[in-house]
Amino acid sequence: MVALAGLASAAIMVAALGACAWWTLRTYSRSADAAREERVRAVAGLIGRSAEGLLANNEHSSVRRMVAEATLAQGFERCRIVLPAAKGLVVADGQTSGRVTYAEMPAKWEDESKLIAGGGSAMDTFTRRPDGVLEARVPLVVPGRGTAMLEIDDAHRLTSAETWPLQAGIGIIAATAMGAMWMGYRAMRRRVRALGAIGEALRSSSQPGSAEGELEVNPELGVEAAAWNRIVAERRVFKEHQSGARIAESLASRRSRDGELGSVCDGLWMGLLLVDDRMKVKYANGAATVFLNTGREALIGSDLNKALDDPKVRDAVRGIMDGSIKSRTVAEVRRLADPNAAASSGGAVAGAIGASVLRITIRPLRREDSATALIVIEDVTQQRVADEARNSFVAQATHELRTPLTNIRLYLEMLVDGGGADDPQKRSDGLNTISQEVRRLERIVGDMLSVAEIDAGSLKLNKDDVRVATVFEELSSDFREQAASKEITLKLDLPPKLPVIRGDRDKIVMALHNLVGNAIKYTPAGGEVTVRVGEEKGQLSVEVIDNGIGVREEERELIFEKFYRAKDRRITSVTGTGLGLAIAREVVRLHGGDIIVRSQLDKGSTFTMTLPMAA
Ligand code: ATP
Ligand code: MG
Repeated sequence: MVALAGLASAAIMVAALGACAWWTLRTYSRSADAAREERVRAVAGLIGRSAEGLLANNEHSSVRRMVAEATLAQGFERCRIVLPAAKGLVVADGQTSGRVTYAEMPAKWEDESKLIAGGGSAMDTFTRRPDGVLEARVPLVVPGRGTAMLEIDDAHRLTSAETWPLQAGIGIIAATAMGAMWMGYRAMRRRVRALGAIGEALRSSSQPGSAEGELEVNPELGVEAAAWNRIVAERRVFKEHQSGARIAESLASRRSRDGELGSVCDGLWMGLLLVDDRMKVKYANGAATVFLNTGREALIGSDLNKALDDPKVRDAVRGIMDGSIKSRTVAEVRRLADPNAAASSGGAVAGAIGASVLRITIRPLRREDSATALIVIEDVTQQRVADEARNSFVAQATHELRTPLTNIRLYLEMLVDGGGADDPQKRSDGLNTISQEVRRLERIVGDMLSVAEIDAGSLKLNKDDVRVATVFEELSSDFREQAASKEITLKLDLPPKLPVIRGDRDKIVMALHNLVGNAIKYTPAGGEVTVRVGEEKGQLSVEVIDNGIGVREEERELIFEKFYRAKDRRITSVTGTGLGLAIAREVVRLHGGDIIVRSQLDKGSTFTMTLPMAA
């Protein structure tokens, strides 16, 4: 492309130079012709006037000499004087080969009157023939003799000797211009080649699959190419820096992710252990160290058997390592309750069943990897306690239901068989017993329904104004007989004025019944039960105080759990489902109050129920 452009401009330049040279030469030759013509005119005039005088004096030889000299001097092609009126007689001829007629020269050859006075310059003619020869025709008037004609043919043209300096000048200018142009072209071509190479590199680098190095161009193409290569190199270095920074960033974020993962594992409630093929602990989270009752430093790197010595766990880990076990194995480990760990999860519950129960799940970390075993430790003490409570409830409920049902069946059979037909007392006792047992059944079923409602979250209160005074009057009459039969003194310590509160009367009465009923049930004969009512900080407080068998410290919260009954023979010998306190506390809490217990084993208990009066 550059070569084409160079060729085109060279051609234009040559044409321009040629035109210029032609124009200069033409103008030069025209002005030379004009100057020559001027000269011919001057010479013709001079010869004409001189010839007129000389011919008038008949000095023919002088005329001839003059014409010959002028022809020689001016280089005329022809210069002669003829007498047209005397049959074209030639008077003088400058050319050596010219034909001069001397002898017949007449003395007079034309009438003078026809002549124009004053040399007849008005009739001078100068014409240029097509072949470029200048023809000068000058009529001469020779006084007293006639007219003659001076004929000059001037074929003088510019010679190469005259024009060569001009041509040489033009040639030098043209050569200089061409040389300068050639040099400019060379320089431009070098530059443009660098730019072309850069353009080509950019085009090829935009093709898919091109490499970074392809952007570089031949540095010999000039400073532009070198500068371009420098920019490309700087870009490469910048990109390398950038990718380095990206790698560092991703490493840092990965590190922080690992750290976060560690914190997440530490925050898990379940214990995690990783064990290698030599049975060494590789990793342990915070919960694992608590469950295994050891420090993390001591645990990591130590033998698993030291921390968790259970044959089933050991066999499972070995099986994973030798590849014979691919799925998970679950083992349950009972550990004696650690008195120091009482505050940890399940500690209090563990006390109830005598040990904490850990469920250990052992599995390979990855299905295809048998080199690491993952051990997950969960505290299932609560679940086990609940299971046991439920099982004992089923047994208790069966027992509870069976006893009244058996009594009802026996008395009904007696009445059906006609027993007591003649003894009205026996008959009425039988019917009374049946009625009592049915009520007992009703209460048990009612409690079970309430528990189901609490579990489902659908226990609702039917609130109304409750006159507290009447509630306690009824309470005292309800339990008077039961207390008396057990030789228990039931005292009511009531303030002179009792308020009216808002609440669900039946449910509040049910809760109070359970508290007072428990106090009487779990106080041996001859004891004392006091119900003390008071008002404090806008709350109604009811204390049920007995001097009965009391509650062990570790069971003081558990007795509010559903189905829970104290593990005491004096308690289990008394009928009950363990639902009363759970229902009572839930009911009171729905009113915005609470039930708490203070107790000393074998000395007695105080259950305090608080109810907001504005409730
Ligand atoms: P029921 O469902 O028939 O009331 P229950 O009386 O055994 O059966 P709760 O009223 O819930 O059940 O009481 C739970 C447990 O709390 C009792 O089994 C008992 O161990 C303990 N308890 C409750 N009140 C007393 C008390 N006044 N003195 C000693 N222990 C008590
Ligand atoms: Mg009870």
